[in-house]
Amino acid sequence: MICLSLTRETLAENLKEIERYKKYLQLCELRGDCLTEWDTEALRDFPRQAGVPLILTLRRAGDGGNWRTSEEERCSRFMEILSSGYTWVDLEHASATESVARAARKKGIRIIRSFHDTRGVPEDLPERFRELPEREGEIPRIVTTPRSVADLRIILQTLRETSGPGIIQAMGEWGFPARILSGLYGSYFTLVSPEKSPDDPVPLSPESLEKLYRYSTLSSSTSIFGIIGNPVLHSRSPLIHNSGYAKQSLDAVYLPFKVDDVGEFFSLAEELSIQGFSVTIPHKSEVIPRLVQTSDEVAAIGACNTVVRSSSGFKGYNTDVRGFMLPLKKLCVAGFPKRAVVIGAGGAARAVVYGLKEAGTEILIVNRTESKALDLAREFNCRGAALSPGIYSEMAEYAELVVQTSAAGMHPLEEIDPVSEYPWTGKEIAYDLIYIPEKTRFLSAAENVGCRILNGAPMLQAQGEAQYKLFTGTEYPR
Ligand code: NAP
Repeated sequence: MICLSLTRETLAENLKEIERYKKYLQLCELRGDCLTEWDTEALRDFPRQAGVPLILTLRRAGDGGNWRTSEEERCSRFMEILSSGYTWVDLEHASATESVARAARKKGIRIIRSFHDTRGVPEDLPERFRELPEREGEIPRIVTTPRSVADLRIILQTLRETSGPGIIQAMGEWGFPARILSGLYGSYFTLVSPEKSPDDPVPLSPESLEKLYRYSTLSSSTSIFGIIGNPVLHSRSPLIHNSGYAKQSLDAVYLPFKVDDVGEFFSLAEELSIQGFSVTIPHKSEVIPRLVQTSDEVAAIGACNTVVRSSSGFKGYNTDVRGFMLPLKKLCVAGFPKRAVVIGAGGAARAVVYGLKEAGTEILIVNRTESKALDLAREFNCRGAALSPGIYSEMAEYAELVVQTSAAGMHPLEEIDPVSEYPWTGKEIAYDLIYIPEKTRFLSAAENVGCRILNGAPMLQAQGEAQYKLFTGTEYPR
């Protein structure tokens, strides 16, 4: 079930939220502690107006809420409105709310017994979850704040091993996949909030849970794919892959996993039977020793962006090369560039240099840190130099194509053009691997004098489509 958290300051605003998302929701949690005014009559009428089953919650400040008065006062507020149509009441573990619990039991209102860890994941999560209900019939709810992929693993394990209704919420970036998978692993409901809040810094709207991740279709037979990285939640890959699965009606889902420890993630991948995953910064090299087999490109580049499960273990591929080359080949049907400048000497530059070399292009690599440019140039048998205006005249000799692979131009470096003084002639092709913003300063400067330009969006799409084929065995649907 999808449960919308109602944390607006007024009941009218909360009703608007319900209206907006109604078709995706099975229930809502009214966070009475977020209201700026207490209007008993209106709160009594709220369940009728809402038209969806409601949980009533007055969350204390110590548990991550806004309720700051005494427990006595809190209990009397609960009692004023409890029996006016609320289906569940959330009462914290070891709180002085026994009178409310008694009244709720009498009226047939179900009790959700909650425990909140705003700092992490309780060490004894499985035992705590089991022992949380104070009476038979109470639904345990633990709200956690995972801080690592190991924490995420414990949460998912606990959910999978528990029978009977219960909820484990995993807040923040680390917990994001658990919120999508929790229904599949037996969580009573999945809490969503459409906007960022102190409670939920990484919002997951009911709409994206249903439309992007197809929450209500997930089951134990669903194949799980994903992307690992750090950071990762900005990635557009879930949109590329999940849209493909939806178009082809594949029983599959693709999730973003924030990963700090690659080894832990491989254990999680075994436990969840993850069928394949994309790899982004900073894990592209680190995954390699854990693979049973790698493609020639992975071996040559030393970076793997695609991992696929096989009967003998995980195999590694690199689709960045194909992703980079495909849009360029389309642009250069009349003839592929014979000479090129590559700006940057990081992971992306390695794929670019490999692809261009394979196509027979002569390359000059320029990088902020000269030694890295020289190392990469040595490895791929091309010319390397420090990135500075002093190299511009030599750059001009190679600049049939100029590929910008550095992070300059991407958030938070949007204002930077790494070759801001370069004398473009208008004959060059300028290709920036960055796709947000759509047009970097580098691309604007080249376009202004008439150069043909390409940004990183078609590359992202093409590398994603190549991954899709490796993951599913079918072409990406058009
Ligand atoms: P990386 O391995 O961390 O390398 C970063 C590169 O950027 C290094 O060469 C670094 O130079 C340079 N750099 C950083 N800040 C700079 C600055 N202020 N001025 C000049 N150079 C600077 O990262 P990566 O994996 O290669 O990724 C680089 C970019 O490619 C990112 O923007 C990424 O989003 C993009 N990318 C796009 C796609 C796609 O599908 N479109 C795929 C992969 C990557 P130093 O060596 O001096 O530190």
